[in-house]
Amino acid sequence: MTPTRQTAVAVLGLGPMGRAIAATLVGSGNPTTVWNRTPGKAAELVAAGAVSGPDAASAVAAAQLVVVVLSDHASVHAVLDPLAEQLKGKALINLTSTAPEESRELGAWAAGHGIEFLDGGIMAVPPMIGGPGASILYSGAVSVFDRFRSDLEKLSAADYFGDDPGTAALYDFALLAGMYAMFTGFFHGAAMVRSAGISAASFAPRAAAYVAAMAELLPAYATVIDSGDYTDEVQPARFHKPAFDAIVRASRDAGVGLDIVGPIKNLIDRQIADGRAGEGLERIVEELAGNR
Ligand code: NDP
Repeated sequence: MTPTRQTAVAVLGLGPMGRAIAATLVGSGNPTTVWNRTPGKAAELVAAGAVSGPDAASAVAAAQLVVVVLSDHASVHAVLDPLAEQLKGKALINLTSTAPEESRELGAWAAGHGIEFLDGGIMAVPPMIGGPGASILYSGAVSVFDRFRSDLEKLSAADYFGDDPGTAALYDFALLAGMYAMFTGFFHGAAMVRSAGISAASFAPRAAAYVAAMAELLPAYATVIDSGDYTDEVQPARFHKPAFDAIVRASRDAGVGLDIVGPIKNLIDRQIADGRAGEGLERIVEELAGNR
């Protein structure tokens, strides 16, 4: 039986994420060419079997699939603009964190040059790439996603979110916003308990279990948000206000700043001031969206 020919991939950008992606592809047997602006980052990859291109143009020459893992939108253009002609007819995946509008702009740029474009949002840190738990969200050309899906699944779970190149980035940043709010909430709690001599280490397992239990409520919140009917007879804003005011007082008493919880108190107060005291906490979605 003839062995299946593996996809030839070029990885442009060898920061920690680019190196993890290239290492996984090389380790999976993909012919892999790599390039980085500053030399000296490819040694381990070359030892593992990658070919290091002297410049980006030679790195992409033999590739069917070009993956860019750079620092931002400007760096993607800085690297790809001079390669536009050469990329014509190839598949391009941008795994650089770019804002949705920037991903759409890259999609339009690629379409204008006859390049098939898929954008990706990486929901993992470099050591997770190629292992369980990593996920990359994709949107853009379904042809690229379908054709190279087996290669993408070597890196992580791969989910496709439609042909708008900005959707994966939108999901990515929406998830990250929630992640940052969750982590900073934990930091606030850790500062509170530390005022009583309780270590973050003993607080963390309790916080992790509680966050996991509370995450179970998200689908119910989502149903309310999508219905647009926020009436809540059990836990409306008027129920949350005294509880949250107590959190603010307890924080102050513990000498902990209100940078994290202060804005949440303001949102609850605003909901009540807007005559929404009988509606649930989920109505904050409308407050945030400016629907007052
Ligand atoms: P780094 O900042 O370490 O690497 C950025 C890369 O971009 C480097 O290879 C750098 O080259 C290159 N670069 C920057 N500007 C230019 C330019 N003008 N021209 C050419 N090359 C340029 O980032 P990471 O590898 O950690 O991340 C890469 C992308 O992956 C980012 O968008 C990041 O948000 C995303 N990501 C990273 C995660 C992580 O945990 N690291 C998690 C999820 C997403 P040089 O070496 O020459 O400076």
